[in-house]
Amino acid sequence: MERRRRNAEVKAEKEEISRLNQDTPHWELLAMITQYRNTITLSPLSYNDFIEDHLITVAVRKRPLNKFDLVKKEIDIITIPNKNQLIVHEPKYKVDLTKYLDNHVFTFDYTFNETCSNQIVYKYTAQPLIQTIFEGGYATCFAYGQTGSGKTYLMSGCPKNLKEKGIYALTASDIFKEANSEKYDDLKLEISCSFFEIYVKKVSDLLNGKQTLKLLEDGKQQVQVVGLTERTVSSVDEVLHLIKIGNEERASGQTSANVNSSRSHAVFQICLRSKLNPKKIHGKFSLIDLAGNERGADTFFSSKTTKMEGSEINQSLLNLKECIRALGRKGAHLPFRGSKLTQVLRDSFIGANNKTCMIAMVSPGVSSCENTLNTLRYADRVKELGGSEVQGS
Ligand code: ADP
Ligand code: MG
Repeated sequence: MERRRRNAEVKAEKEEISRLNQDTPHWELLAMITQYRNTITLSPLSYNDFIEDHLITVAVRKRPLNKFDLVKKEIDIITIPNKNQLIVHEPKYKVDLTKYLDNHVFTFDYTFNETCSNQIVYKYTAQPLIQTIFEGGYATCFAYGQTGSGKTYLMSGCPKNLKEKGIYALTASDIFKEANSEKYDDLKLEISCSFFEIYVKKVSDLLNGKQTLKLLEDGKQQVQVVGLTERTVSSVDEVLHLIKIGNEERASGQTSANVNSSRSHAVFQICLRSKLNPKKIHGKFSLIDLAGNERGADTFFSSKTTKMEGSEINQSLLNLKECIRALGRKGAHLPFRGSKLTQVLRDSFIGANNKTCMIAMVSPGVSSCENTLNTLRYADRVKELGGSEVQGS
């Protein structure tokens, strides 16, 4: 009796779904994913979950489907069942052309679903690293993922809703709070910000009209960005202003702003110095909005420039992975000279007090499936142990 009722319910539900989705080309896929989701219990991350202490934190954030996705009749192929797992439902065909789902299960330190705000992502990723810079270390936070996956939204904040601050401003705000606490009275700390961009091999100052900057390596292998603007700041509003100027500068001077900024790495740094010894850096927080990691699907049509950009981006992202891994394996070879990005961040990868987090950003849509899997596999390998992808069915 009970079973018959349940079967009838399931049948009704399936019919409902196919009715709702008759106008989506992916209705069959959607029905399979919905069926899969109905078999699992969701227990997502909550605001009060335990914050773990890691040298390298690797997390994933899924953005919600947006109106562009809906126009394209995209469907959401990502399920986040709990606070550290993520499932990609990849559509595949059997030899007889029947569709099936290849469900890839990944495990990370944290997985954030589409309902998580920037504030929550921040709480589990960058915020636990604030202490590091007060203790004299370097903290670094990367947003990694394909163009359109939400990297800039996470780092700079939502352009349409100023309440949804990004990690740059949230980090600065907590650094101000901490610097004003009595503990640091003796150090007489001063806080400054710089913001620059790395495009192919060119470093440009986003707080000084995109002036080209040179890198200089001294005898101790320390890398300096010569002439980089450093603005002393004392309030979050001042920081928000710098972010705005920098982002406008980043988007300028190119026919398509989106194309330009998606192909460059943006580096926002917050530096702590003691007024007693202003030449020496006490600690530094680097926050990086990385270039889009998508492989040129349209390589056939792309110009020589785009190909060159693409291989430069790939090279710098591969190098970055090796450098972060070296941080986790003390004393390992550090291939920091392999790209401008890792050169300017060299100090983040050496030293006992440094900590890093990487937030892999994913778009939920089925047309991003391949890029999403690439992003997750890269993020998986950033951690020493890696290999946490499990094939399910
Ligand atoms: P990227 O910098 O990776 O290319 P963007 O940050 O520009 O991507 O995001 C692409 C689009 O998606 C933007 O319109 C952005 O406002 C929107 N978006 C990204 N993440 C979210 C989110 N978590 N919630 C709502 N909208 C988002
Ligand atoms: Mg962006």
